[in-house]
This record gives sequence, C-alpha cells and structure tokens, in this order.
Amino acid sequence: MSKVKHTHGTWTVLGPVGAGSMIAAKDGETVLAYIAVVYGPGQTKESAGNSELIAASPEMLEALRAYQKLDDFHANCPECEGLEQPETCAKCFPLADDARLKMRAVLAKV
Ligand SMILES: [Zn+2]
Repeated sequence: MSKVKHTHGTWTVLGPVGAGSMIAAKDGETVLAYIAVVYGPGQTKESAGNSELIAASPEMLEALRAYQKLDDFHANCPECEGLEQPETCAKCFPLADDARLKMRAVLAKV
C-alpha cells in the first residue's frame, strides 16, 4: 500500500456549498491547508456536487485502497483460495466488510 501523498486531515467544504466554496483539510477546528476553490457553475446543485465530490476524495481513496487490500488478500486466501465470494469466507469477510462500509460512507457524502 502506498503512502498518503495528499494533505492529511478531514477535507471539508467551508462556507456555503457551491460556487465560491472552499475545500480545506482540517484537524478538528484547525485548518491544515486550503485545497481548492469551486468556481462554478454558479450556485447550482452541480457546483454543490462538485464541492462535495472534492471534499470526499480522501475517503474515496481510502475505500479504493480497502478494496485493493481485499482483492490482494482474497486472491491468495488460505481458506477460500479466491474461489468463494469474499463475503462468505471467514478470513476474507472482515476485509470485505471494511471496504463495503468505507464505500457506503463515501456514497453517503456525495
Ligand atoms: Zn477467503
């Protein structure tokens, strides 16, 4: 698994969500870095969606890495040898569940 290359912290939308909103990485109430400003298109659902999508990027990356970890383990699983569905294998299940929960958390944010 590769090291995290982006700014740590919780990425969040500052101010109104939409055009002109700023995405910042925060640790609690402390702003660690300003990541991006959403310029458009106007105060629309689309610009709000753009803001939320950028802010969810770190969690998306984490969910993808969880799925990659599951995929790597499942292929060489000592119990199912990659032949069962990961959700039905006792050794693969915790990784599958972790990945699924992370995916659902991201989808709930965007
Ligand atoms: Zn397995």
